[in-house]
Formats: sequence, C-alpha cells, structure tokens
Amino acid sequence: MSRYKNAKKRKSVSVYKKLIRILQVMVVVLVLLCALQTRRISKLEQELQEAYLQLDWMEYKQAKWQETAETDFRQEESDSAVGEKEEAGVPGSGQEEPEKEEYSPEEKEESPEEEAHDPEQDGTLRKVYLTFDDGPSRNTNEILDILEQYGVKATFFLIGKEGEEAESAMRRIVEEGHTIGMHSYSHDYEQIYASEDAFAEDFMKMREYIYDVTGVNCVYFRFPGGSSNQVSKTDIYQLIDWVHDQGVEYYDWNISSKDSSPTEYSAEQIAENCLADLERYNKAVVLLHDTNSKGTTVEALPAIIEEIQAMENTVILPITEYTVPIQHRTKEMED
Ligand code: ZN
Repeated sequence: MSRYKNAKKRKSVSVYKKLIRILQVMVVVLVLLCALQTRRISKLEQELQEAYLQLDWMEYKQAKWQETAETDFRQEESDSAVGEKEEAGVPGSGQEEPEKEEYSPEEKEESPEEEAHDPEQDGTLRKVYLTFDDGPSRNTNEILDILEQYGVKATFFLIGKEGEEAESAMRRIVEEGHTIGMHSYSHDYEQIYASEDAFAEDFMKMREYIYDVTGVNCVYFRFPGGSSNQVSKTDIYQLIDWVHDQGVEYYDWNISSKDSSPTEYSAEQIAENCLADLERYNKAVVLLHDTNSKGTTVEALPAIIEEIQAMENTVILPITEYTVPIQHRTKEMED
C-alpha cells in the first residue's frame, strides 16, 4: 500500500516538475518576447517622433511659403493696378516695368526639373549633415582643405572669434559654399542663458558680426549646449519663439562625435562615434567641433567622409533653408 502511495507520489512529483519546467520555458519565452516588443516599440516611438518633427517643419514651411505667395500676389495685384492706371493715362510712379510680366516659358519649365535633381528634395536618399561648432579656429583651414578635397559642403556654427585670421576663415567658409550658422557670440553659457535679454543681445551681436565680416544675413542657429541644454535659466521655449521671430531656425543633432567629451577620444574612436549609428537614420546631423584643441577631429575627418561617401544612397549636404531640422526641444514638447 505504502509502495503504491510512494509510486503515486513520485508520479505526481514528476508531473509537477514537468509543469514547472514548462512554466520556466514559458516565462523565458515571454521575457524574450517582451524584450523584443520593447525594442520594437522604442524604435517605432523614435520613428514617430521624427515623423512628427518632419510634419511640424513641413507645416511651418507651408505657412511661410503661403505667406510669401500671398505677399507676391498682393505685389502683383498692386503692380497691375499701377499698370492699368498708366494705360488709362493716370500718371503712375513713372517707372515702367513691362519686363516683369514677360516670363520666359523656358525658365518656368526648368524649375521643376531642377527640383527633381535637388538631393535635398529626394526622399530616397540618406542625408548626412556634417556640422562644426565653436569655430573658427586654427584648424578651420585644414578642415576646409579636407572638405574641398572630397567635394563636400558642411555647416559651421560659429562663435565670436575676432582678428584677421578668424575673419578670413569665416570668409573662406562662405566663399567655398559652406553654410554659416550662429552659435552665440560669447559661448558663455551662464551669460547667454541668464535672461531673454542677455540671450537676445548676444544673438544680435553674432548675427551682426557675421554680416559685417561675410555679408551673410545668417538664418541658422545652434543653441550652445543644444536646445536640450540643462543650463538655461530662461525658458528654452521662450527663446525658441524669439529665435523664430527673428526669421531664424535652430538645428540640433542626432549623432555626436563626442569630440568635446571630457574623455579624450582618439581619431579612430571619433570616426567610430560618428559612423556606428549612422545607418539607422535617414537624416543624420553630425556634431563635430572646430577648435584649436580638436586636432583629433581633423584627423578623423577623412575617414568619416570616406565611409559616408561609400554608403549607398547617401549624400553629404550643407544645411539650407530646405533642410528639415533635427530639434531636441520643440514647441509641442512644451508641457
Ligand atoms: Zn559650442
């Protein structure tokens, strides 16, 4: 009887063991599935975030174009009103502008073709924007030489460096077709972010300085520390509104070379930091620095460019007004 009981007990123990093993396997499978799903969700969230930013930007651009079109339309209407008055013998401004009406049809046909060739408008291409902060420096000319050698245009977010050497570097940046952006005059975070007035004063000083030296009315800006900086004592959204009111757009980054990190990375590591995640993005704004102490960045640059140029369907472009910006903080994130 007891043997029968023991056998029964053993049998039920082995059934329990099996059940536990099945449960264990199920738990492991569930955990793995959860991890996979979490990864998928975070990837989708990132894509959604990018899509939202793109949508905001397109809406903003559309509104701007509409505004311009309306202004042009009003201008044309008032021009034709003047024309009609003149035809009726009413003295107008005295300035005849018949040529304005005579659009060349060839000119009109060419523009959509041009757009089709514009890599910025080509959605099938991966676009990479190399951006250099904190220049000009003693390294600027070497950076420009390398860019020229590879036929690449980049963007320089400059700070208020004075003197003939800095000014001639600024002019060379413009002459060689790169984009100039503002990155504050003093680059002194405490001072710039102390108040909206302090920010505005520094911003205007840099804008005027760039205009005086290069003749460029700069419309691109990078917040010192990015729009996600933790230093600003002033509400960053207030500053963003102010920047937009100046007709200026701000550009953060989604890839950092980490060349300004306290860890001193080698040239190889800087290149690796730029390239490791690049394929994940359709649009990559790469943060690099142009300062006297960043010789390793200059050293890393040829490898960075060569690797990007070897990637399929990928172009390196300067930031222009058609570039959809990468922004760490946008108005929609305010709350
Ligand atoms: Zn900086």
